[in-house]
Amino acid sequence: MAELEGLEFGKSDFVLLDEVTMEQFMENLKLRFEKGRIYTYIGEVVVSVNPYRQMDIYGKDNIEAYRGRELYENPPHLYAVSDAAYKAMKRRAKDTCIVISGESGAGKTEASKYIMQYIAAITNPSQRAEVESVKNVLLKSNCVLEAFGNAKTNRNDNSSRFGKYMDINFNFNGDPTGGHINNYLLEKSRVVQQQGGERNFHSFYQVNRSLHFCCKTVITSNNDRSSHKAVLSALEVIGFSKEEINSVYQILATILLLGNMQFESDGESVNIVGQEVVNHISELTATEPDSVNKSLLYRTVDACFGRDAFAKVCLQHTVRSLPSLLQALYERLFGWIVSRINSIIEVKDYDPVLHGKNTVIGVLDIYGFEIFDNNSFEQFCINYCNEKLQQLFIELILRQEQDEYQREGITWQHIEYFNNQIIVDLVEQAHKGIISILDEACLTVGKVTDTVCLDSMDTKLAQHPHYTSRKLSPTDKSMDFQKHFRIRHYAGDVTYSVEGFLDKNKDLLFQDFKRLMYNSANPVLKEMWPDGHLSITEVTKRPLTAATLFKNSIVALVDKLACKEPYYVRCIKPNEMKSPVLFDDARCQHQVAYLGLLENVRVRRAGFAYRQLYARFLQRYKMTCEYTWPNHLMASDREAVEAIVIQHGFQDDVAYGQTKLFVRTPRSLFTLEQERNNLI
Ligand code: ADP
Ligand code: MG
Repeated sequence: MAELEGLEFGKSDFVLLDEVTMEQFMENLKLRFEKGRIYTYIGEVVVSVNPYRQMDIYGKDNIEAYRGRELYENPPHLYAVSDAAYKAMKRRAKDTCIVISGESGAGKTEASKYIMQYIAAITNPSQRAEVESVKNVLLKSNCVLEAFGNAKTNRNDNSSRFGKYMDINFNFNGDPTGGHINNYLLEKSRVVQQQGGERNFHSFYQVNRSLHFCCKTVITSNNDRSSHKAVLSALEVIGFSKEEINSVYQILATILLLGNMQFESDGESVNIVGQEVVNHISELTATEPDSVNKSLLYRTVDACFGRDAFAKVCLQHTVRSLPSLLQALYERLFGWIVSRINSIIEVKDYDPVLHGKNTVIGVLDIYGFEIFDNNSFEQFCINYCNEKLQQLFIELILRQEQDEYQREGITWQHIEYFNNQIIVDLVEQAHKGIISILDEACLTVGKVTDTVCLDSMDTKLAQHPHYTSRKLSPTDKSMDFQKHFRIRHYAGDVTYSVEGFLDKNKDLLFQDFKRLMYNSANPVLKEMWPDGHLSITEVTKRPLTAATLFKNSIVALVDKLACKEPYYVRCIKPNEMKSPVLFDDARCQHQVAYLGLLENVRVRRAGFAYRQLYARFLQRYKMTCEYTWPNHLMASDREAVEAIVIQHGFQDDVAYGQTKLFVRTPRSLFTLEQERNNLI
């Protein structure tokens, strides 16, 4: 709660609204945006509105102002929550995480970078070289990941096309010792197709080669060239070897060449037009030209007795299987870059006995809810992920809060909120959920089409209150009978086209391609394709589907977050034009609604802004009261805390729980903090 700001900037904490209504919430949000106050609290949650202009609030002075301070001592800022997360980690040896959410272009990635910069700036005051190097690698990894994982979209010129969760490890000094990055669901289809006005991943424009096939906007700008230099230098700083860096660019070039490849058919057999391109690819991938040819034009089939046989593929199939190869090449390249960075920054030789507990701050920057004109498998996965994160938010913020009041025996007014578990179940429940139904369809031998799969969903989910389709509600003409189903998400209704769901879920890639890459003489390439050594009979065992793999990774992510103390940044995109002056009321209100911010305020208001164990509270503030300094003689810590509260005159602002003191408004605490500062 920002005491230093005047009311002309609106209320710095939504908790202070006169009434918790959408109107008042929006009025305050708009006023603050117009006054250039882009951050506002809900308790410890930061609500951020993308300013779409450079703000002068991230400099060294600002960092110093927030360093080591409490949330309520300064105007709302990302730095304040970063510091809160850092303090919790350092003082109480708690693992913490900062979850950043919001839709594309809302400012998540920028926020995550400011948070990392802040943490880098406040740690390692003694400038120890090994810590500096860890920090440097952590910061540089952003540059590399953005080059390979970001692209220009219509909503954001530098849109992250993957989800990222980064753990930063700290030693007992509170200095970074390493980290770990998890990436989620890279939008690999972008490698082969982009919507009008959008671009392929930045990395493709940074290679100086012909870019005919995969990039609609062919022009590479000076910007791309200078980024290329920055990426190269970042790769070097992180510790990629010359050979590794070369391999990365060889793979990019291979993708471009493969994408440009032409095929011809004389009716009988299919051939590649121009042997040079095959030779070029074989050079780049350190494979035999003949093997390149074969892997593209033939399929290994499982002949009898485990012996392989080759079958020639028809033109249509050859051309059709190419996109999945290009996508897979890029996806594995990206995955390899991430794991290579991880192997460099992972904490090595950490001895907890010697070095104390190793603690973690996690930063999650992941795609927000997506509703497009045409929603496919990717949106289905992304929106499911957001349901899971909302579930976690509910669990952690709303339920935990209520549970604590009950446990502490404090009078508590129950808040009704929508629990989206039912939607999570709709997607992920075993046997009955959509993912299960998809997987089952993918496993079925024979010709199961997307439409057949939709039928099966309609049958199994007809009764589900959050699922419908044209067949189930025939009067709803907004859906196509054959194609569409609709999920009532917590953030709104989304109609998905089932077309392509099965192929995307199977994510089939012919073993011949994998084997080609695995047999590369380039160890980097080989490393990316460990499954290329399997024989055809081993391969027929079904691998996990894309949806199941994604589900597993999100479940693991949620488990990781759930055991940490969470801090939230909720990002809002003020308008669609990237304008610094436009506040689109309807768009903003929609985001406020689906982020559940009003409910968040209600819970926070019904409750107490601050709580602390009696013993800890005493430890910090006993010096401010004559009855407790240096030690109290009362029967319990609780009574001693009462003495402090009474001495400072805010007895009406607190409640006494079983083990903790609860303070309603942060103002009381602010007085105490000031008093304490005067004394030390
Ligand atoms: P997201 O990751 O949510 O899709 P980004 O973080 O990439 O969105 O932000 C989109 C664009 O908005 C950025 O490229 C930048 O131009 C602008 N932006 C976002 N946050 C800020 C900020 N705090 N200050 C200035 N510009 C910002
Ligand atoms: Mg982003």
